[in-house]
Amino acid sequence: MSAFQPEFTARTAQVRVRFGIGASRSVADDVRALGCARALVLSTPQQVAAAMQTAEDLGPLAAGIFSKAAMHTPIDITTEALAHVAEVRADCVVAVGGGSTTGLGKAIALRTNLPQVVIPTTYAGSEATPILGQTENGLKTTVTDDRVQPEVILYDPDLVARLPIAMTVTSALNAIAHAVEALYARDRNPLSSMLAMEGIRAFARALPQVVAAPGDLTARGETLYGAWLCGTVLGQVGMALHHKLCHALGGTFNLPHAETHAVILPHAVAYTEPAVRDLLAPVAEVLGGATAGAALYGFAKRMGAPMALRDIGLKEADLDRATEIATKNPYWNPRPVDPAPLRALLQRAWAGEPPVA
Ligand code: NAD
Repeated sequence: MSAFQPEFTARTAQVRVRFGIGASRSVADDVRALGCARALVLSTPQQVAAAMQTAEDLGPLAAGIFSKAAMHTPIDITTEALAHVAEVRADCVVAVGGGSTTGLGKAIALRTNLPQVVIPTTYAGSEATPILGQTENGLKTTVTDDRVQPEVILYDPDLVARLPIAMTVTSALNAIAHAVEALYARDRNPLSSMLAMEGIRAFARALPQVVAAPGDLTARGETLYGAWLCGTVLGQVGMALHHKLCHALGGTFNLPHAETHAVILPHAVAYTEPAVRDLLAPVAEVLGGATAGAALYGFAKRMGAPMALRDIGLKEADLDRATEIATKNPYWNPRPVDPAPLRALLQRAWAGEPPVA
């Protein structure tokens, strides 16, 4: 099926992407190409070793390491990082890690306009978007701003090869979720739809190979290619029920980000599918299933993903509150979001049952 649409508006970002085994080791070339000479390397406390390797690769261009990046970009950590930026007189940041570390780099860029180089080590895709989520006093807000879009991305299969296999699977499903919702986005365009399907195809092909052989750098490379495509569409079009549900669950009940995406995706898609069956038919075909919801459920199960909200920390007693929060602010979805079917969806997702339209 052609992705052609009779009318559309498309938006693409100016980003330099370098791809390849060992691409991260020549990060100094990218920092120099940006006209910078003092790079502050960012990481989480868990990935200090990767940050130290990058600082070593940067040689005299490394101005320091700040290793306190944390989930959901807390503003107090950003404030501390900004003081460090000033102290070492950094003229760019190099973020080495997943969405949390990328988020810190974006938060710094929003406030200083410093250029960013990102070396992703998960498939979350934040590196390819102008979107930043931040938290203050437990409240998460999202901004979309061109200053937040990283200028350079270095995709190195060697780094993502160290991602533990359970996180590999949930992070891949997090990426696939961006692409699936992009297929029925209200502001989709032919380019976003093509990128989304190619992203899903890359994961459908390479993720089973990575699960079988986590160190297979060719397959890891193809999953990173999928992450780039899925992240790129996340930056181009709006998301719907699936992402709203994950944000509501993650924000209120502190559920883990990628795992929540992995569990909810088949259910949110099955709910929405009757309204956009034609747009989701390629997903069912690529992943193998009678419907896209069933295909995503089967794929997640084959990959060994967590299948139930009860297994990732949600109590059954919280389901009513989750329904209330998810339906409080009305938002667009191809199939309107009503409390009763949504409560039933959450019950099935909680128990790990197959999705129902
Ligand atoms: P993460 O960055 O929080 O990483 C989870 C943990 O895994 C961290 O401790 C990290 O250090 C570790 N880790 C990462 N890569 C590793 C590797 N290769 N080997 C070993 N350990 C590794 O998780 P994430 O899922 O990448 O990102 C989630 C965050 O990103 C959320 O806050 C989410 O809201 C945000 N996000 C934002 C966007 C956007 O466009 N703004 C897009 C996607 C995700």
